[in-house]
Amino acid sequence: MSRLMPGPRPRLVGASKGQPLSILMEAAGLGLADFGENRVQEAAGKLPALKAAHPQVILHLIGPLQSNKAAEAVALFDVIQTIDRPKIADAVAHEAAKQGRTVATLVQVNTGEEAQKGGVAPRELGGLIRHCREVAGLDPVGLMAVPPAHENPAPHFALLKQLAEEYGMGELSMGMSGDFATAIRFGATYVRIGTRLFGPR
Ligand SMILES: *Cc1c(COP(=O)(O)O)cnc(C)c1O
Repeated sequence: MSRLMPGPRPRLVGASKGQPLSILMEAAGLGLADFGENRVQEAAGKLPALKAAHPQVILHLIGPLQSNKAAEAVALFDVIQTIDRPKIADAVAHEAAKQGRTVATLVQVNTGEEAQKGGVAPRELGGLIRHCREVAGLDPVGLMAVPPAHENPAPHFALLKQLAEEYGMGELSMGMSGDFATAIRFGATYVRIGTRLFGPR
């Protein structure tokens, strides 16, 4: 749907946190097109060199974003998957306009309502999407979630899919090394794979 996200689905996002630049370079050389990093600081040390060597790669932020890192995140990433509150939506929209950058966004949903996890609670999703679209001027293309570690992920994927349909969004970022097959059955358009792709970190 977006020019940033062509090609067949689901797309494989290599979750490269904890991996050295040399591994990312090797993966890009083998044809991996999408990379996901969790921390802006770590990404800043690897992604500019990766993009310089492989300009076609698409870089995703898949970890939590603080508003004081929004400028750096907008400069580094093509896709920010972790919009989870109005302040972050505002900061990303502001920086994208200021930098003249096109950044695709997804809203992270805390489907398990875990206190320590990022993402908006499902009941607050409607308000956040309205804020993105009507106030911030961001048009999120989809939803992202990380289900609770020790639960059956299927109901979480089903909920994310249902919410995306309800709000008219086409992209679903769900599924990691341990549960990507289930996520694909529930309609994932992005899977984020770390250890099964790169080995232990
Ligand atoms: C680390 C991480 C992944 C990849 O996890 P693996 O289990 O190593 O595949 C996916 N998504 C997010 C948000 C992550 O932090």
